[in-house]
Formats: sequence, structure tokens, C-alpha cells
Amino acid sequence: MENERKIMILDTTLRDGEQTAGVVFANHEKVRIARLLSEMGVDQIEAGIPVMGGDEEKAIKEICQAGLKSSIMGWNRPVIKDIEASLAVGCDAVAISISTSDIHIKYKLQSSREWVLEQMVKACEFAKKEGVYVSVNAEDASRSDMTFLLEFARAAKQAGADRIRYCDTVGIMDPFTIHNNIKLITEKTGMDVEMHTHNDFGMATANALAGVLAGASWVGVTVLGLGERAGNAALEEVVMALKFIYDIDLGFKHEMFLEAAEYVSRASGREIPKWKAIVGSNMFAHESGIHADGALKHPGTYEAFSPEEVGLQRQIVIGKHSGTAAVRSKFKEYGIELSRHQAQELLPMVRATAVSLKRSLFDKELVYMFEDYFGKRH
Ligand code: MN
Repeated sequence: MENERKIMILDTTLRDGEQTAGVVFANHEKVRIARLLSEMGVDQIEAGIPVMGGDEEKAIKEICQAGLKSSIMGWNRPVIKDIEASLAVGCDAVAISISTSDIHIKYKLQSSREWVLEQMVKACEFAKKEGVYVSVNAEDASRSDMTFLLEFARAAKQAGADRIRYCDTVGIMDPFTIHNNIKLITEKTGMDVEMHTHNDFGMATANALAGVLAGASWVGVTVLGLGERAGNAALEEVVMALKFIYDIDLGFKHEMFLEAAEYVSRASGREIPKWKAIVGSNMFAHESGIHADGALKHPGTYEAFSPEEVGLQRQIVIGKHSGTAAVRSKFKEYGIELSRHQAQELLPMVRATAVSLKRSLFDKELVYMFEDYFGKRH
């Protein structure tokens, strides 16, 4: 893939992420998260929904006034007073969102395709007259009739929209289908497309990347993939996959990814799963004998990139699956030079203890085990 292609990142942790059932950020947390996102290199931050008023409006205003490098986008229905609220707090970009699928138009909007087009065009023309950047969001785009979606995208372009957001609202896309769809939209309309993918079948990141390969120039993400139901494509996954799989370096300060993930985790009350891609604490933890031995000899044998790239550390875990190389290296950390023979003697005990405790061992437990077996050092 060509390296010079510019892919832009929109982060919606503060909007879609906060729409996660049960998640509320305090105002100072929203501002702090926005600062982290901007410092890491996020191009545009969807900061929330200004027309909600109250704390939401205040927090977005504060973010707009924080002097961040990122563009700040407000989320809106295709309603003039929504857009006025976004402009009033100082957003330089607006998302104008309306459903394009028949199931949404019929049951949620209880209206018609013509009405949808009309609302979108009116709102878009109003926003463009005010001189802000406009993303027109096709909600439920992935279940929309393609002919209508193309008509919608062309009408948005005509009305001055800067891009269209392709929303896989219920997360039912797969990478192959979404690739076809995005290719069609970019080729037929020439519109900049933003991927907005949900993770209901575990394919949010894969679908976002497939969209990029098909010509989408923006990717919507959230820290840790926070978001409605199963969440969105994760910022850290998309950025690292683009860099390490596709050789597209967006210039992010990705060594901050762990710090940002931990902050968002605390603020949202959502723990980071140990096995979370990119920033989970198990990403660089090696226990099995063969893996630990390989990783100790050359980390590249069992790691896709170095832990420092995202702020993590390599960890050799001693437990049921450990081998002698890992045990010896662990003791070395404590200044104990174990012979291969001693390690072999210790290993059955290490394994039996791990099985009886049903977990890996703390370093202290290992040292005690060594002292009990070989007598105190010195
Ligand atoms: Mn969403």
C-alpha cells in the first residue's frame, strides 16, 4: 500500500463512547480525554452533543477553548437548532446524522426517503453557510439500499458536505462486503468516506481497515473500542494495524496508548481485559516454555511489535507452562544464577504449585520456593 496516502482519524470516545450503556464522563474527564487524544495525534475529536445543553454543552465548550491541535466536531440531528448549538460552543466541524436504511426510515423516523434527503440537504447547506467542516452521517448505511445511499451521498456532496460517514450501525458487515460497498461509494460519488464500524460480530477493526483499503480516507474510532453495545473500532487497534500491517504510519504518539487506555478505563468504569488487543496486560506476557524461551532469545519470535511502542512492558510469567529458560531468567532478575540442573529440579514444584493455586506464581513465591529447596542464599 502506498505510504503517502493520508488517512485521518476521528475519535468519538466522547460521543459514541459515552453512549455506552452505563458510562458517564465527568466534565474534567472529557476535557482530559480530549487533551490526550489531541496529543496522541487524533485529527478530529467528536466531543459530544452540544444541543443537550447542561454539562455536555459546558464540557464541549471547554474542549473547544482548550487550544487543541485537533479539529473539534459536534454531533447533530439534521436540525438547525442542533447545529446552532454546535456553532455556539465553538465547534469547527459538525456531524449531521440521519438514518438511510428503510427499516430506520419506516419504524424510527416514520417518514420517507425523500424527507430524509430534504432534512439532510437543508441542514448541510445551513452548516456550510456558517463555514464549518461537515460530515454527513448515513446512519445504518450498511443496511441501506445502495442506490439510495449513492443518491444520498451525491446530494450531500452537492449540498457542500466534506465527507460522508458510513455507519455500520448494528455491526453486521464483514470485511469483504464492506470493501465492495465502500469502493462503490468512493468511485461513484468521489466523496470522502469515514468508516464508522461497530463490533457486534467482532469485526469492527477489520471492517474499518477494509474500508480504508477500498478508499475510505477517515476512520472513526474510540479508545479501547468503547461504544454502544459491543463497541466501535478501537483507536489503538486501527492505528497500530495501519502502521505494522499496512505500513501506513499516521505519526501517532502510540507510546501513549496505554496511558490513554488506562485513563479512559478509569473514567468509564470499564476494566481493560487482560487479552485486549494492543494494550491488554497480556499482550507481551509469555508463559509457555517454548514462547518464553523464544521471546527471551529474540522478542521478534513471538511479538508483532515491541511493548515500548504502546507503553507496555515485556513480562515473563512463571506458571504451569513454564520451561527452564524462563525460570532461570526470572531468577536472574533477582541476582540468582540458577544452573540448568537446578532449574530442572525446581520446575516440577513450580508447575504443581501453579496447578494447585490455579494461577501463575508471584516472584516472591518463586524465591521462597528456591530458598526452601536449596537452602537460604549466602
Ligand atoms: Mn455508533
